[in-house]
Amino acid sequence: VPTGGSRSAELSSHLIKKFIRRVFRLGPASAPRIVPKSEHGISREAISAASRKTCETLHERGYVAHIVGGAVRDLLLGLRPKDFDVATDAYPEEVHRIFRRSRLIGRRFKLVHVMFGEETVEVSTFRARTVAETDEHGRVVRDNIYGTRADDSIRRDFTVNALYYDPASETVLDYHNGLRDLRKKSVRVIGDARARYREDPVRMLRAARFAAKLGFTIDERTRKPIHEMAHLLENVPPSRVYEEMQKLLLSGHASTSVRQLRSEGLHHGLLPLLDVIFEQPLGERFVMLALEQTDARVLGGKPVSPAFLFAALLWHEVLAASKKAVHKGLKPIPALFHAMDAVLEIQTDKLAIPRRFTTIMKEIWALQPRLEQRSGRRPFALIANERFRAAFDFLVLRAASGEASTELAQWWEKFQHASEGERQAMLLAPQPGEPRRKRRRRRKKPTLPPEASSA
Ligand code: ATP
Ligand code: MG
Repeated sequence: VPTGGSRSAELSSHLIKKFIRRVFRLGPASAPRIVPKSEHGISREAISAASRKTCETLHERGYVAHIVGGAVRDLLLGLRPKDFDVATDAYPEEVHRIFRRSRLIGRRFKLVHVMFGEETVEVSTFRARTVAETDEHGRVVRDNIYGTRADDSIRRDFTVNALYYDPASETVLDYHNGLRDLRKKSVRVIGDARARYREDPVRMLRAARFAAKLGFTIDERTRKPIHEMAHLLENVPPSRVYEEMQKLLLSGHASTSVRQLRSEGLHHGLLPLLDVIFEQPLGERFVMLALEQTDARVLGGKPVSPAFLFAALLWHEVLAASKKAVHKGLKPIPALFHAMDAVLEIQTDKLAIPRRFTTIMKEIWALQPRLEQRSGRRPFALIANERFRAAFDFLVLRAASGEASTELAQWWEKFQHASEGERQAMLLAPQPGEPRRKRRRRRKKPTLPPEASSA
């Protein structure tokens, strides 16, 4: 049992070390706090079999290997991790050689995916303390220089994401007081916030995402520079912004995340128009309903369609652009198509929505006016359309936000489940403004001379 005296001696030696480090501008401590199982409480069984096996195998070959990042954080919070990442001192090529079912991925950031049946474990090699290569804005563009575990810990984004779990000793290694921040419910960047955002502006989005997901607050020094540095996101490749936004939107905490983005001033220029949308009451209502619905599905373990969600996020932009085009003299349908392309083009500049999704988004949008046509054969054709279900769900959402008619949504709800006879009875008379179906002109049959036909 330490006496009061030895404790104060310990404290002063700690202060002296801290002072020396400050004077010589040394980095943070390179020795982690080793947290025993009795304190962290993570049971080995909570770790996925594949990631445990990955660590064990690397261990047997003489390497150091730990579970890192979000999995450790989530386990400590009693949440169920989405996936398990492993960090090791083995080089990517070595990891790849050790695991028969694995592949090397990435060029700027090399990683190895190790496959065990259904599960894939992402294995990264400890990064060096210094960044390999940056662009003219200070953004990291290449990062394949390796270092020690302590170096690696400095390169991680937030203290709560820099905890290393060692399955062999069942201890957690904490270099940056991550455990303390976890208890304080604080998202705190490692090192100097400005420098870390300059290296990788996406970290600003991540701060907002983790705060929303975990119900944490962003530490003041981590939060403060975000507002003035938000514009740096413009230099990030659109595909990376997309990737991070997709994580955010499909996290099950999209609506709180988007509110957080907005309060940090990060929504501007990301999803366009997200700021324009928030200025239109109907638009905001619609977006929030879409996000809440998505969250409920994710948390309920149901599949969600990113295309549907992006279609919803951009809908009011499409509506506005379409109205403008009508004003310039286009007919409603061509105006809608013109607007869809214009909105997607602007959007893809900032955030590269994959083409497989933009195709579906356009289909959902294009079916909206067709849902208004309730006469003749049209409703029957529409219901057989591959995209009917999504288009109908979209209409329901529009109706819920007050932008489309509730009666129309209810009509389709009924029509879908009605019998053939009931459907016929439900049809409306052709509406005055309704576009008429173009009748294909029959080619006139050559009239035969009377003698020939009688012959
Ligand atoms: P989740 O998977 O729950 O969304 P996560 O923390 O696991 O959260 P990932 O994107 O899977 O997030 O990243 C895994 C880990 O890699 C992080 O916990 C963090 O330590 C590190 N990391 C990821 N992205 C960055 C980044 N941009 N800068 C620094 N470190 C990062
Ligand atoms: Mg993860």
